[in-house]
Amino acid sequence: MHDPVPVFVICGPTAVGKGTVVKALKAEYPQLEVSVSATTRPPRPGEVDGRDYYFVDEDQFARMRERGELLESAVVHGAHSYGTPRGPVEQSLAEGKTVLLEIDLAGARQVRQTLPEARFIFLLPPSWEELERRLIGRGTEGPEERSRRLETARVELDAAPEFDVCVINDKLDETVKELAEIMGLN
Ligand code: 5GP
Repeated sequence: MHDPVPVFVICGPTAVGKGTVVKALKAEYPQLEVSVSATTRPPRPGEVDGRDYYFVDEDQFARMRERGELLESAVVHGAHSYGTPRGPVEQSLAEGKTVLLEIDLAGARQVRQTLPEARFIFLLPPSWEELERRLIGRGTEGPEERSRRLETARVELDAAPEFDVCVINDKLDETVKELAEIMGLN
């Protein structure tokens, strides 16, 4: 047996259900530390600062980057900046906790350089049509933003072979079970 790996990165195209899956995982396995990202994107209705994201302005984000406070950062969907605060991740690791980062492909590639021991998980939709259906169904983006996200999704799907493991997100409870096994949460 290998020692359990404490850092996991989960990636996947827009609307594949990363947010839902990560929330369900956290609910079932509260011992899992899910990293809270900083972003310059404005909050959506219901999102809470410090819980869903740290909502910061461009200046604050730039300062965090300059001070080396971000483990990785990227402009996602050509629009807003997102980054993983370094401090909480290091703190959790020092406490022996398992940490999960839900970030985009560019961010994952940076983490591969900075934390080479991390394991990389890619979440796949059951099909391209299903992905489009989920994106339209959640109704949080207008048509322009939607087509921008689908463009990014094509590029991201092509990167699936770079990952250590791919999980098809068909039924939520099965996905959660599979991820918990991969992360050794049981
Ligand atoms: P949303 O705006 O829908 O919450 O997130 C958009 C995308 O940003 C998602 O694909 C998510 O994986 C990515 N993202 C969220 N936080 C981070 C982060 O800290 N770093 C990077 N690189 N991407 C992130």
